[in-house]
Amino acid sequence: MAEIHDTKADKPRDCQSCEQAECSANKQRQDEPDDEFRQRQDLARKMCQIGHKLLIMSGKGGVGKSTVAANLAVSLTLAGKSVGLLDVDIHGPSIPRLMGLEGQQLVMHESEIVPIEVGGNLKVMSIGFLLGSPEDAVIWRGPMKYGVIRQFLGEVEWGPLDFLIIDAPPGTGDEPLSVAQLVGDGAGAVLVTTPQELSVADVRRSVSFCRKLSLSVVGIIENMSGLVCPHCNGRIDVFKTGGGEALAREMNVPLLGRIPIDPKIVECGDSGVPYVHRFADSDAAKAFAGVVDRILESSSTKTDDN
Ligand code: ADP
Repeated sequence: MAEIHDTKADKPRDCQSCEQAECSANKQRQDEPDDEFRQRQDLARKMCQIGHKLLIMSGKGGVGKSTVAANLAVSLTLAGKSVGLLDVDIHGPSIPRLMGLEGQQLVMHESEIVPIEVGGNLKVMSIGFLLGSPEDAVIWRGPMKYGVIRQFLGEVEWGPLDFLIIDAPPGTGDEPLSVAQLVGDGAGAVLVTTPQELSVADVRRSVSFCRKLSLSVVGIIENMSGLVCPHCNGRIDVFKTGGGEALAREMNVPLLGRIPIDPKIVECGDSGVPYVHRFADSDAAKAFAGVVDRILESSSTKTDDN
């Protein structure tokens, strides 16, 4: 199984390696201005305090990537982990809505942004908290997006975390690229697809994007994988079946799980209640728990077979 590089394994969480001369964060690059060097060091120190950084990606919109990101983050907290949930879907931030946090105001503490805390061990940050209203559109070019993502990673008071779950916009554009460049070594990608070939084909591109950037692919989640009819209990494969599984085999990456369609996921998303919390005994919540088990398992493995 692919490894999520464990920063804890080779550096303790309170590692001070960036203080030492041999740490790359401590080596000023040729022609690197002092302020950029300091920013890079600050970011490296912050990222060092986070055990695992997982970028949640999808080839196309509407496959349930944000829903998966939010429910994975909550499932990890239910497994006893401290988690950050960062929404860098700059043009369509849905995490505030999904988590019931719309309209929350951010505060600053010692020149850092304080993320919104949910239930003691989940910290949430989204561009959505900075927009006047959910209908406001963000019209930014690449360098501005890079700047804000850098701020969200480096100037938010994340503190020590077991996991940082990053909800990226669909595709392989500026935002996932910026995240991959900024989080540093050891980040992993979780790819979300529906079983349908149309979605699977796009995820192939995401796998190749990750490989070009040396971002390890932790695995694929097949979302919207079948619906159990509430009337006759028969299974309906609305988006076909097995596409994610076949892709995982073809690309030699793990299949982390299959999340079925459940209309209550839609209801929960609209009302801002995390589904896995509210319907902990449902098949879909159990499927999320299975994904978390596989992620925790892979985070403790040392072999990277990507
Ligand atoms: P994306 O982030 O990929 O654009 P969203 O997370 O916004 O997708 O989900 C798109 C829609 O699909 C939302 O209405 C969401 O509630 C719904 N959805 C996602 N996953 C499931 C699922 N497993 N069962 C039922 N509805 C789902």
